[in-house]
Amino acid sequence: MRVDNILTVDVEDWFHICGIEDMIPADRWSRLESRVSDNTLKILMVLQKKRIKATFFVLGSVAEKHPSLVKAIQRHGHEIATHGYSHQRVYTMSPEAFRKDLRKSVSIISEITGCGINGYRAPEWSIRDDSLWALDILQEEGFLYDSSMAPLPIIGNSGYAKTPYEINLDGGRLWEVPPLVAVTPLVNLPLGGGWGLRTFPYSLIRSSIRRLNHQGQPALIYLHPREFDRANPYIRLSLVKQFVVNAGVERTDTRLERLLDDFIFTTISDVLGQLP
Ligand SMILES: [Zn+2]
Repeated sequence: MRVDNILTVDVEDWFHICGIEDMIPADRWSRLESRVSDNTLKILMVLQKKRIKATFFVLGSVAEKHPSLVKAIQRHGHEIATHGYSHQRVYTMSPEAFRKDLRKSVSIISEITGCGINGYRAPEWSIRDDSLWALDILQEEGFLYDSSMAPLPIIGNSGYAKTPYEINLDGGRLWEVPPLVAVTPLVNLPLGGGWGLRTFPYSLIRSSIRRLNHQGQPALIYLHPREFDRANPYIRLSLVKQFVVNAGVERTDTRLERLLDDFIFTTISDVLGQLP
């Protein structure tokens, strides 16, 4: 059975890491070296070579600073969605602040592309049980899908669904599109992106995608431009955070190429259009 999988990119810079706000506060961002354009262009080149379209969740503050990057992503024919404006975890914001942040990102990105936006991804998968109100706001603001709820312990909830599903809200429906995880008796493993995609054996990732595809379900992979950079500036992180952010970074590009050789990938909108 041919199943199209989902490839996504969170377009943000090397310093957009949740939980380091005390080390690199947002008011210092504008003075830091920006590496997001060069690194995103590397991803665009790979996708062009493999003739793959993806969904790019662009951070509003990155779009504001690099409109030509957003235009380049659009020119390559990819889907452009939003990653919010200020890269704050949703559960740390009030509903009003979330709506404001969302609208600001949409207005900046749409101004550049001339198109509307259908999808949102929260920083660090931060729509959880304590911030489900964000789904209603997304639906009210006209979004068709969200990709912010991870079926994983700690950052999400292991009980969340592992394949795309429609959520019934008071005002209507919203698709939720979760990342690839591997279910084990102990814990769900994060295979779809980040340290999991970079450090688990490739055979485990491949077999997990095959299993989903045999059920007719797509796997979702997510990437960050900084994962294609071997010269990211040093940030003094805790050992755990160091691992999460940097482990296996030298492997991201070859891993992506292998995935694109072994499976079919496309945008979220394309895949949702194929689902019943
Ligand atoms: Zn992010």
